[in-house]
Order: sequence, then C-alpha cells, then structure tokens
Amino acid sequence: MAGPTVAAIAAPQPAFQKNLNVHLICPDCREVPPNLVENFSEGDMVCGSCGLVLGDRIVDTRSEWRTFANDDQGNDDPSRVGEAINPLLSGSQLDTMISYGAPGSSIGRDLNRTQNKAIHDKKDTALQAAYAKISQMCERYSLPKMVQDVAKEIYKIVEDHRKLKGKSQESIEAAAIFVACRQAGVARTFKEICMLTSVPKKEIGRVFKIIESIFQQNGTSIVAAVATEKEYQAVATNAEDLMSRFCSHLGLTSQVASGAQHLARRAAKEGILAGRSPLSIAAAAIYMAAGLFGEPRSANKISERTGVSDGTIKTSYKFLWDAREKLVDLQWIESKKASMTGLPKV
Ligand SMILES: [Zn+2]
Repeated sequence: MAGPTVAAIAAPQPAFQKNLNVHLICPDCREVPPNLVENFSEGDMVCGSCGLVLGDRIVDTRSEWRTFANDDQGNDDPSRVGEAINPLLSGSQLDTMISYGAPGSSIGRDLNRTQNKAIHDKKDTALQAAYAKISQMCERYSLPKMVQDVAKEIYKIVEDHRKLKGKSQESIEAAAIFVACRQAGVARTFKEICMLTSVPKKEIGRVFKIIESIFQQNGTSIVAAVATEKEYQAVATNAEDLMSRFCSHLGLTSQVASGAQHLARRAAKEGILAGRSPLSIAAAAIYMAAGLFGEPRSANKISERTGVSDGTIKTSYKFLWDAREKLVDLQWIESKKASMTGLPKV
C-alpha cells in the first residue's frame, strides 16, 4: 500500500519504548531458534538438545477440556476468557461477564440478560451498525476485504474527531469507502461509489473534503495533497485499470478488453486524447474495440455502464477514428479477428 497506513495516522508515536521481547535460549547449546520442549506433566521447560531444564513451574495453556466435533452441548462454551479486543470498537471490552449459569437454572440466565442490557455500550452499537453497512456496501460492489477493513478504520478515526456532526451516516460511509479504495490502490471512480448510495454526489464530496482536512491536521494527506476530484481520478485510476471491469459489465469478451487496453496504450503513446480523463479514454477505447472485434455496443449503452455521457464518448472517439491507422494492430486485421469495417462511423 502506498503512503502512510491508517493506524500510523491515528495514534501519536510514543517517544521511547523498551523492547519487551524476551528471548529464551539454552545457555549451553546457544541454538537459535532454541529447541525448547514443554513438559506439562512435570511443569518444566527443557532444552530438547541437551536436556537442561530452563524453567520450572510453567503454565499449561492448553484447554482443560476435550472438544468433540459432533458434541455441541447446547452452545455451552466452557472457555473462561472472552474474545480478543476489537480495535475498531471503543472501550476496552474487558468487562466482567455474568455467565449463563447451569442448565435449568433461570437465575443465571436472568442475570446474564440484565447485565447485557445494563452494559451495552450505545456508541459501540452505533459503530457496529456502521461497520455492518460498510461491509454490505463493499460486498455489493465486490470490493476486496482489505478495502472493507481500511474503510472501517477510516470511519473510526473520523467518528472520533466529531467534525462530521449532522452529516448523514450513509455519506460518511461512502466517503470512507472512497478513501479506502484510493489507499488500497483499487480503481473505482467517484461516480461508482456514489451509485452505492442514494446520497447526492455533492454531499459525499463535501464529507470527503472534511475527511481530507482531518487527515491533513494529523500531518498526512490522503494521497499526496490532491484537491479536486478530477486530479484525483488522474492520479489514482488509469484507463487500463478500469477497462476490464467495464468490459465485463458490458458482456464483452476478454479479446475486446485487451484490444481496448492496447488502443488506449497506443493512444497515450501518440499523444492522442491527452488531457482527457481516464474514464472517457476508457469508454472511447471500448467503443472502438467493440466495433473492431465485431461485438458492437452503442455509445448509449457504454455511457450507461461507465457513467460517461455519450456525447463525450463520441467526441473522444472522433480523435481515435482519425488516428485509426496508427492505433489498430495490423495483426488483428491479418488474422481476421478484427475488421476496420466494423468500426463505428463518426
Ligand atoms: Zn541445550
């Protein structure tokens, strides 16, 4: 991942810390890594190579019961420790829990229920709801797990800052996902993230600006101080990244996708379409390649899937059309995979 990680931004760096890692090796053999044998029945830690006893009274950390896969015992978990702390929730979560009690006794169950009601942290409930929503949104868009986790971390940081009071939950969640995509190097456009929610684009943009300012206060910009959405797209997404996804949305074969990528690459080399957004370059190249390989799609249809207006697609395509002799690979024509006659007319 490029740039600083989220965790580094959140916590101020401690000045100095003692190294608390304890390395135990046998003083006779001096093997690294040491060949240690834990003898639980005797409570000894023994060097496996020479037999020297390195520690007595060691703690047996194994569970004191045996579990059988088919024996669920009615959700009766004999473990006496709770889950690991979830850093995404507030509070230490190390409270005392009243257990369910012996089966058949209602007192234990009632106490357990009462305690649950009493200690349930309102803030945690809200956070958990937000995290569930983020997961749901990410899954709906098949975003990788890493984006999900980063988005949740960003949400937590933003939430702690209390600068976004009055903004809708959904817009904050969407903006967090947008930032997470950038940090994880996953190519998604602003428009695509906006389509996940019913929140207006402007609102998400506003929230995004505030999130950016929070990160800047901490001495880091999200991605090298890019301010506007247009600049942002140019930095983080390039046309080739977007292409294969758009092609599969349009039901085009991988041949068309790689053809479109080739066209975009050549166009960039020749300086055609310089200064246009990666999104419109991708759309125009797909428009061209689809016709070229005999799987034509109308500009309207491509516009629907990419969010680029069909006017923009046609204008950009005009430049590609003018340079078609330079862009189209002769091998495609010779192998009869593609034909110039299939190209959409200008
Ligand atoms: Zn030894």
